[in-house]
Amino acid sequence: MSASPTDSPRVLGILGDGQLAKMTAEAAQTLGVPVRILGADPEGPCAGLGVFVRGDVHNAGDVAAFAEACDVVTLESEFIAPEVLAAAGDKLRPSLASFQRIDNKADEKAEAERLGLPVAPYRVVDHVDAALPGAPFMAKLAKGGYDGYGNWAVRSEAERQAFLADPPSGRLVIEDWVPFEREVAVTVARSETGDTAAYPVVDTLQANHVCTRVMAPSSVTPELAAEVTRLALAFVEGVGHTGVMTLEFFITADGAVLFNESSPRPHNSAHYTMDACETSQFEQHVRAVLGMPLGPTGMTVPQAVMLNLLGSFAGPASAPAADEADGAHVHWYNKRETRPGRKMGHATLVGDDRDQLLGQSDALEARRLT
Ligand code: ATP
Ligand code: MG
Repeated sequence: MSASPTDSPRVLGILGDGQLAKMTAEAAQTLGVPVRILGADPEGPCAGLGVFVRGDVHNAGDVAAFAEACDVVTLESEFIAPEVLAAAGDKLRPSLASFQRIDNKADEKAEAERLGLPVAPYRVVDHVDAALPGAPFMAKLAKGGYDGYGNWAVRSEAERQAFLADPPSGRLVIEDWVPFEREVAVTVARSETGDTAAYPVVDTLQANHVCTRVMAPSSVTPELAAEVTRLALAFVEGVGHTGVMTLEFFITADGAVLFNESSPRPHNSAHYTMDACETSQFEQHVRAVLGMPLGPTGMTVPQAVMLNLLGSFAGPASAPAADEADGAHVHWYNKRETRPGRKMGHATLVGDDRDQLLGQSDALEARRLT
């Protein structure tokens, strides 16, 4: 009997060719899913993975042509304009409708409030003027910010005056400053079939708005972890998202939980799942967008610490030698060029004792492999 078209494995298209696309494509291939990648650099992180289609993920014509040869199209970045994403039609996962609910930080916050997630007080402004609140506050571009680009921490009257004197253009979300005690994140998955799953809540540390360490599991109380997970599942279901999604929260000294932001795709804070959980976030994303059963999300080790390997100089990049890894699971992204602060790879340390792993991660970072 010849195979009907529905028997052949469905082709997954990925918009983008950076590290998240690379790790998603690797997971798909491990599941036997054929992959196509739309991007600019066939010799970059996705070199040698699936079928590489050279094109522009911000060009609707390129996306439409790319989608034709795919059964499902997913992405590694939410910064693609809705009218371009629309070119993938109903093959897009997460769907355009769910994206549009959280398309920018202003809509995302309104959606969070609608779904019962507490957020810090905020206002949305179309231009900066003297009506700005007094310091301290955090100003964020409603659209296009990441890793602190597009965020301004305004902590004093002097910083407020400087901000007023040289204001960014574009819509801004002005948030009350949150004197948080810690930050946590949780990654959840919602499948095409509506099934959901949640990974452990993790603690995150950021320096200059960039995540530097992820510690799994979080050391918050089980009650707080359950509350964070409950809110994240309410959000992913309320938005109707398909795929994995990470939500970041602030925890204040009195134990209040405030939603910060969501990422509708695999996320840096869940990279540890590759080495420390039964199913990696990338495999889970592939499973979710293709409607395959979701995998178990439990940890396979007592503790994990992930550190980003950030560039320390500008120039051609070369992978660190295996013996430099110090027992860590190193994931190198194969970017051709390094620059100070650029995410070049990450490393996960696993073991029994968080403090010991943090010490090892500091030693690894001090070696400046990148
Ligand atoms: P990401 O790298 O996660 O994409 P981003 O650039 O979108 O980040 P946010 O996550 O909104 O930005 O903010 C980055 C960091 O800045 C947060 O993790 C937190 O440490 C700090 N921060 C954000 N908002 C506030 C706030 N209202 N009050 C105090 N600190 C804040
Ligand atoms: Mg963030």
